[in-house]
Amino acid sequence: MKKYNVYLNGEWLEGEQQIQVLNPATGEVFAEVASVGRDAAKKAIDDAHEAFDQWKILTAKERGNYLKAIASALESRADEMAEIITMENGKPLTQAKGEVAMTVDHLLWFAEEGRRAYGRVVPQQMDGKRHMVIKQPVGVVGAIAPWNFPLVLAIRKVAPALVAGCPVLLKPASATPLSACLFAECVEEAGVPKGVFQVVVGNASEIGNEMLENPLCRKISFTGSTEVGRKLIAGAARTCTELSLELGGNAPLIVFEDADFEQALEGIMIAKFRNNGQSCIAANRIYIQRPVFEKYKDALVERISSLKVGEGLEDAVEIGPLVDEQALSQVLEMIDEAVRGGAIVLAGGKRLGDQGAFLAPTLLIDVPDGALCRQEEIFAPAAVLYPFDNEEEVIRAANDTEFGLAAYVFTTDLNRAFRVSEALEAGTVGVNDPAPSTSNCPFGGFKQSGWGRELGREGIEAYQETKHISLGGVF
Ligand code: NAP
Repeated sequence: MKKYNVYLNGEWLEGEQQIQVLNPATGEVFAEVASVGRDAAKKAIDDAHEAFDQWKILTAKERGNYLKAIASALESRADEMAEIITMENGKPLTQAKGEVAMTVDHLLWFAEEGRRAYGRVVPQQMDGKRHMVIKQPVGVVGAIAPWNFPLVLAIRKVAPALVAGCPVLLKPASATPLSACLFAECVEEAGVPKGVFQVVVGNASEIGNEMLENPLCRKISFTGSTEVGRKLIAGAARTCTELSLELGGNAPLIVFEDADFEQALEGIMIAKFRNNGQSCIAANRIYIQRPVFEKYKDALVERISSLKVGEGLEDAVEIGPLVDEQALSQVLEMIDEAVRGGAIVLAGGKRLGDQGAFLAPTLLIDVPDGALCRQEEIFAPAAVLYPFDNEEEVIRAANDTEFGLAAYVFTTDLNRAFRVSEALEAGTVGVNDPAPSTSNCPFGGFKQSGWGRELGREGIEAYQETKHISLGGVF
């Protein structure tokens, strides 16, 4: 069994307890990670604050060079990292390799973008004055990451915070802490000074409360459920801790009758089934224009029924297990509830085997209004199709949700592509593009999908304070 310590203030420590890490494909424990409690989190924040003074005075180019060195260490261990991600999370190995490659790209993008975090000189309105606006690091950052993309979603926070000049405490999800430990080894190899990057594995609410209540922790960046996001907002209401929140989604995917059939079909498969359907931007509600509904339905039954399901490390596997038994029970309950209301299961709809949390890839139609899988994230390889008649109706239906993270449109009509993408209430719209996230463009949610943006230029701004310096008596 593999054992990992926690990386705190430049040292690998044994911690107070151990967290067992399960492989969701087998249900077996394959690793243990040391975990810490609130006192250690407090010490980590103190140490990070201590490291801040020296880290913030480096030039952005120097900090960027550290990020490049981390990227290079990670690239040299890409296969090992991808295997760990597959073992702790369950996703197919090729997708885990994609996650590592995207993480490297985030590091390299932010290494350069840090140098372009410009302020500005503003023309004065009164004689004798001069105005400058400068950008400064916000201070110690608490980064809280989910289990579904355990590496890339953590580094979407860590890379911009570090390059902006902020020390970071990373709290990975308890189900998937190993990729964070391996990443810390890369940080250590890159020679990043002690205290600048630390990993705090442990009880989420203890660590979260310390981040919220410790005045030296100036910012929390969280990716996870809307439910936990609301708890952080409630806590921050007491302390005014700045928050960036990447929360849940309920993405619509709209296929118009003029769409390219093969492109849209492939787009549905990627947007829904990537990452075992456990993606915050997964296509949760698939709207297909009525004249082509049957054609897509038949093709999807065939594609979904032939997906290869299995342990992510096996060759050619396309769908792995869900993250745990609870996730499987939740989706089976959602499917049952829809079926009780009249939904029809055209593929899957049941558990596969008795070892590991596998759902047979599922396709549902005729899901009634008010069904859970219409209102909430399905977070599993289960697609639901809805027919629609016209553009106005489908835009209304697509926007009829409290979430607004991502949306997809498939059409070959350019005017319609603009009209619909501008009308959709979502932070990212993929037009004929089922995988729109990229290092150089902002990502985040409208409505209850979150606050703020990651990636792109905005990704660094999240870790900067803006200061106005006004000079008087300049004649
Ligand atoms: P989660 O249960 O909210 O957990 C996310 C992280 O928050 C984990 O590290 C968890 O730690 C921690 N946490 C739990 N309770 C906490 C508390 N009281 N204070 C501070 N931290 C706390 O979410 P999840 O189940 O891992 O992820 C799935 C959800 O994330 C879905 O809703 C999905 O849509 C959303 N998501 C959003 C995005 C986005 O970019 N908008 C991306 C990916 C996922 P423990 O694991 O130790 O409990």
